[in-house]
Amino acid sequence: MPELPEVETVRMGLAAVLEHRRITRVETRRGDLRVPFPPRLAERLNGRDVKRLSRRAKYLLADLDSGETLIMHLGMSGRFSVHAKGAELRIGNYVYEPAKSNMRRGAHDHVIIETDAPAEIVFTDPRRFGLMLLLDTASLGTNPLFDTLGPEPLSRAFTAKFLERALGGRRTPIKTALLDQRTVAGLGNIYVCEALFHAGISPKRMAATVGGGRAAALVRAIRSVLRAAIRAGGSSLRDYAQTDGTLGEFQHRFAVYGREGAPCPRPGCNSKVKRIVQSGRSTFYCPRCQR
Ligand SMILES: [Zn+2]
Repeated sequence: MPELPEVETVRMGLAAVLEHRRITRVETRRGDLRVPFPPRLAERLNGRDVKRLSRRAKYLLADLDSGETLIMHLGMSGRFSVHAKGAELRIGNYVYEPAKSNMRRGAHDHVIIETDAPAEIVFTDPRRFGLMLLLDTASLGTNPLFDTLGPEPLSRAFTAKFLERALGGRRTPIKTALLDQRTVAGLGNIYVCEALFHAGISPKRMAATVGGGRAAALVRAIRSVLRAAIRAGGSSLRDYAQTDGTLGEFQHRFAVYGREGAPCPRPGCNSKVKRIVQSGRSTFYCPRCQR
């Protein structure tokens, strides 16, 4: 499942061909993903200018000049690919190749959006847990999708003070509290495990006891693991855009995630990475370094 850094990488790759561009053609090749598409989706998008492409948690938000926002979510298996219409397209650091002439539409290519970049954006989603909605831009803040979300982890609102207050009185393990989207928006299992390792905090520690220096270390660790992953995704984007145009898929190297039994990567620690299950999800951590 794509996590925040992948979604941010997708946003960057889409922004180049979508932001400040006009939508020139839209094709929906079925009636729904997780839920039905909004009525007349193609008609409401066609001819609109995209004012801004932003991200909130793992949602992509394209603000249109019609006063509506196209909300997009990748779900479990959704992905976007971008192809130049006509000759190769170079925008900033990104290179988009034309679609190969022998490339046929796949059974899982559900939405095609063309812009005057000129580019073709294809949304592919085999399992169809993805989402596309059109909502009034002005009402987004009060929409149930967004109104209970905590701050963005990379925003200035996410401070040690904020985190300490958000965790205050909570008797759940810190890992569970961080996965709760009301604490901080968009964090998933992988980056929570990684951030707790870098902060030296046990995933089992009671959330209410993470304050002061621990909260500050945790905020720093969350920001740095996300930033490093976004950087890795950004640098791989060019390669991916050159092969099949797919955005946001890249190889990660994790310190503890998925590394059960491997030596702890911290120099001088001879312990092994341990896996436990918390709230039905795997947690990876070093029992010696994380307290
Ligand atoms: Zn260790």
